[in-house]
Amino acid sequence: MVNGNQVRSLKKQLDEREHALRQEIRAELLNSEEQHYRDLAGRVKDVGEESVADLLVDLQLASVDRHIQEIRDIEAAQTRMVTGSFGICVDCDRSIDAERLEAYPTAKRCRPCQVEHERMYASSGRPSL
Ligand SMILES: [Zn+2]
Repeated sequence: MVNGNQVRSLKKQLDEREHALRQEIRAELLNSEEQHYRDLAGRVKDVGEESVADLLVDLQLASVDRHIQEIRDIEAAQTRMVTGSFGICVDCDRSIDAERLEAYPTAKRCRPCQVEHERMYASSGRPSL
């Protein structure tokens, strides 16, 4: 179980990581040959409360896709912090270890449920993380 101070410190980590990802995405868009991408680069910086992921979801730029996935995970974790469900496993409703959250602040499952989740994905032939 994480306490309020830990959540605040994890939130700061997530905010910083999201900021860094935005910078990386922006740099990659600016590097693009396409004017459309370079135009979007300006909006990534100014998008504010809007979801960066939603803005860029149709981009289909492989190098940016990876970052978008991570931003989505971060945004989801930030939402759970606001709604008070952060640190609670989405599958079994138990508290996720503080240690696990320190290592993976975007974790939405406890370790046993994550292992089970990956096993199910693997056995159904779909790619896991
Ligand atoms: Zn669980």
